Order: sequence, then structure tokens, then C-alpha cells
Amino acid sequence: MDLSFTPEQQRYRRTLRQWLAANLPEHPEEQDTARPGWLEAAKAWQRKLLEAGYLAVAWPRQYGGQGLAPIYQVIVNEEMAQAGAPRLAGEEGLLTLGPTLLACGSEEQKRRYIPGIISAETIWTQGYSEPQAGSDLASLTTRAELAGDHFIVNGRKLWASHAQIADRMFALVRTDPNRPKHQGISYLLIDMRAPGVTVRPLVQIDGKRDFSEVTFRDVRVDKEDLVGGLNNGWKVANSTLANERGNMGLNSAPLMAFAQLVQTARNIKRQNRALIENPYFRHRIAQLQIELEALRLHSYRQLTNSIRGRTAGVDSMVTKLVGSQLAYELASAAMEMFGDYAMAERDEHDIHLRGQWAQHLMTSIAFQIAGGTSQIQKNIIAQRGLRMPRER
Ligand SMILES: Cc1cc2nc3c(=O)[nH]c(=O)nc-3n(C[C@H](O)[C@H](O)[C@H](O)COP(=O)(O)OP(=O)(O)OC[C@H]3O[C@@H](n4cnc5c(N)ncnc54)[C@H](O)[C@@H]3O)c2cc1C
Repeated sequence: MDLSFTPEQQRYRRTLRQWLAANLPEHPEEQDTARPGWLEAAKAWQRKLLEAGYLAVAWPRQYGGQGLAPIYQVIVNEEMAQAGAPRLAGEEGLLTLGPTLLACGSEEQKRRYIPGIISAETIWTQGYSEPQAGSDLASLTTRAELAGDHFIVNGRKLWASHAQIADRMFALVRTDPNRPKHQGISYLLIDMRAPGVTVRPLVQIDGKRDFSEVTFRDVRVDKEDLVGGLNNGWKVANSTLANERGNMGLNSAPLMAFAQLVQTARNIKRQNRALIENPYFRHRIAQLQIELEALRLHSYRQLTNSIRGRTAGVDSMVTKLVGSQLAYELASAAMEMFGDYAMAERDEHDIHLRGQWAQHLMTSIAFQIAGGTSQIQKNIIAQRGLRMPRER
């Protein structure tokens, strides 16, 4: 593992930090995708980053990226997290579809779709899970039948994040029901405004509507929007899943939560002493910082491997497993600091400090499910990483 940053990389970090200090939008903590105005504000923020050259920094220049080494994306992720920068409007496209198209898409698909992902002109949603296909994703039944130069899609997707604001969906569909289940799946890019697409937002425990059920009734999709070849969708999907899982540690959400936790411990006083001076909370904070640092070093090792062209193995699953558990522990520690006030709704004086942590706690539980549950990550790490026998 090579942990040193070159003088040029350190300069880049300093310039970015200054830029963020001067350009961060006000009230970045408001991250509810269903809130009126959220999408416009998030798109404007993404475009601002793009104009300043801080978006898709490691993607090739010919598709609108900055063409820099992957380490620069890590610097951007870390600085954005430390600064408390808001979510990007085009998150699904940037974190999952874009890298997948770069790896498996045709030249035409890259040229047509990647610039829109970068500029947030096209908002994407992921259509993998179905009512009977979550952990056992390969059991999916949404059917796409080839009819000349297009597919006809029928079926139902569940938990599609941001589907209610999305323009297009990258979806897994069954194109050959007679083959073994992993070999009859294809990867399609579907227009969410096509006739026959219905989106029904689902209300979450926190009252937000971040994801939806999407049904398809005789939806027409151009054959040109098939990625990676007919019945080759499982391989393409795995490249997306690897990105989704691996990104979690590097996108540094726990770093940001940790900075907020320390601030919380400084702000809350008991018997005239800040909680940060209390030995119990000091110990908890120190333990969390150790775990966070271990995760960061693991992420750097993963990055070093990727720069040297080594396959990631189960590294990205370890990042996802530990990162999501850590997010939960961070939120639990903050809730304990607040004691009886922990469940208080956001109030006008202390928006960072009250409802925000209850929100983090609920979101952290979702992290342990999204992109493959913790139990499934453990199974894969045990079988592929530790070479343990499969469960029966
Ligand atoms: C916030 C959030 C966002 C999401 N966004 C999207 C999205 O954009 N697009 C999309 O397609 N999906 C999305 N999902 C869905 C997510 O991928 C699935 O919820 C997840 O894969 C689990 O599938 P399931 O809900 O059907 O649970 P199930 O597969 O039914 O699992 C239920 C329980 O059984 C356990 N379990 C299942 N099989 C095993 C096993 N073999 N060994 C041990 N334990 C097992 C699981 O760990 C889990 O605890 C999202 C989910 C969340 C929470």
C-alpha cells in the first residue's frame, strides 16, 4: 500500500478545500429527494462542481471527465465529506452506471449517456430488486422479449432509489427463461417516460419517499439500449455491484458523520462539562476513530490494488460491510449522547444535532441492506475471501 500524496496532490486538495469553503450551498443538510426544489438545487450543485472541474475527475476526457488518476477522486470524496457537501443529483449514474458503461458499454452508449450522467441532465435509477428477488437477485422475473429492433418489457421492480425523479433506469431483465437463471438475464437502459411505465413512491420509516415500486406493461426499449450483449446481464450487473459496494468506504460518509459526532460531543454539556471530556464518551469516540481509520486504510489498500491493476476480490464487500456497521455505531453513539432528547424532531436551533442523528440511525440501517445485505456480504467474504465451504 502506498499512502503518500505527492506535492501536486496535496496542492490539489488545498485548492479544492478553499473552493468548497467558498462555494458550498447553504443548508446542505437538507437531503430529502422528495422535497420540492431538492432536484433543481442538487442539479445546480452538480453543475457547479462540473464547471469547477471537480466532477467525474477520474473518467476519460472524451466523455466529459477530467482524465485524472483515481487518487484524485478519492481526494474529492474525502474533502466533500469533510466539508459536509450535499448529495449529488446524479448519484446513481455517477456511482454505478457510469463506471459500468465505461467497462461494458459500447462506444455509442458511452458517448450518448456519460455526458448526461456528469451534467445531471439525465437522472438514473437502478432496477434490480423485485418482490421475490433481492438477496437472490438472479431469480428476477421481469421479462424482456425481443421483437425485431426492440424489446417489450413486462414486470415489476421494487426499492428503485430516486425512481420518482429519474429520467431513465438501468435494469436487469429476463431475456431467456429456459437457460440457467444467471445466464438468461440482460442489462437494459429503459426510458422512465415511455408508455407503460408506472412509478409508485414508497413511504419510508422516516417519512421520506426516496424509493419506489416501478411496473412495466408492454414497455418498448430499443435494442441499442442493451448493454454488454444478450443474456450477459449478470456479468454486467456484477461490475455495477462491485462499484456500488466499493464506493461506500471511499465516499467517506462515515468521515463526515464522525466529524459531526465530535462536534456533538463538544456542544452537549452535562454538569457544565462538555461530553467530550467525559471518559466514557472519550473512549467511545476514540474506539470509533480507530475503526474509521482502519476502514480508511482498507480503502487505500483497495485503491492501491485497483491502481496496480489487481482484481478487487472481496475488498469492496469488506468496505461495504464495515462501513455500514460503522455508520450505525456512529449514529448510536450520538443518540446516547443526546439521551432523552435523541428522538426529538428537528428543531429550529439545533438542526444538526437533534432530528439529524435519529435520521442517521435509520439511514445506517438502510445502508446495511442496500446493495446487498450484511448477511450476504458475510457469506460472500466467507466463501470467496476465506475459502470456507458454502452453507447448505
Ligand atoms: C435504502 C435502500 C435503497 C435501495 N435501492 C435499491 C435500488 O436503487 N435498486 C434496487 O434494485 N434495489 C434497491 N434496494 C433493494 C436492496 O438491494 C434489497 O433490499 C436487498 O438486496 C435485500 O433484498 P430483500 O429486501 O428482498 O431481502 P431478502 O433477500 O428477502 O432478505 C431478507 C433477510 O434475509 C437475509 N438473507 C437472505 N438470504 C440469505 C442467505 N442466503 N444467508 C443469510 N441471510 C440471508 C437477508 O440478509 C435479510 O436480512 C435498496 C434497498 C435499500 C434498503
